[in-house]
Amino acid sequence: MNRITSLYLIPTPIGNLEDMTQRAIRVLKEVDFILSEDTRKTGILLKHFNIRNKLVSHHQFNEHKALASVISRLQSGEVAALVSDAGTPGISDPGFLLVRACIREGMEVETLPGPSAFIPALVNSGIPCDSFLFVGFLPHKKGRQSKLKELSTLPYTLIFYESPFRLSKLITQLIEHVGPDRQASVSRELTKIYEENVRGSLQELSEHFTGRDVKGEIVVIVEGAR
Ligand code: SAM
Repeated sequence: MNRITSLYLIPTPIGNLEDMTQRAIRVLKEVDFILSEDTRKTGILLKHFNIRNKLVSHHQFNEHKALASVISRLQSGEVAALVSDAGTPGISDPGFLLVRACIREGMEVETLPGPSAFIPALVNSGIPCDSFLFVGFLPHKKGRQSKLKELSTLPYTLIFYESPFRLSKLITQLIEHVGPDRQASVSRELTKIYEENVRGSLQELSEHFTGRDVKGEIVVIVEGAR
């Protein structure tokens, strides 16, 4: 471990525990404490990899409040790791506030490479991945339509995170804003036993998913405007 670094961001598997890196395991063992979005889930992960360390709760509902105490611990020389429920912290998960605060305080931050749902979904889609925009979750109600309108003319591949309950609604709204012909891809349950990648035009995806009881975690990739 590099003692100059105060904060490590550690990606964790998005489904398949084999995706945990050796470095992630080592750093989680070596830091002074682990900031965790869900201490119960992280506890299970640590147990699986035989990691014994102190867990401190750090999630979207306390991250503002917890910031000062975490920063003061790091300033006193402790080293922390931040993990989220799954994937890379800071990507549709807590992380940004803490990273920014550490940088402002002149502390070194290091993010390990590792699992994140959008990279395999994007690369696997067959849609250009040289230039893309990570949208993440759209707002559920207010601002959803205006955001879709804003995105509709951009010449970049678009990446959405979406709940299975809203997948059909998203596809319908995408068709309303960009038309039925753009190529798209829906990746479901990546790295898990029932991984599924469905590719086609938005119209074809709409026909595939409408009326289905869709379950699991989902990334939607949509071709950019031409
Ligand atoms: N930090 C995570 C990352 O780096 O991808 C994202 C966390 S966000 C709260 C959770 C969303 O990520 C899910 O709703 C889904 O859109 C996407 N996701 C996470 N795991 C996934 C998987 N195994 N397959 C497909 N999408 C996944």
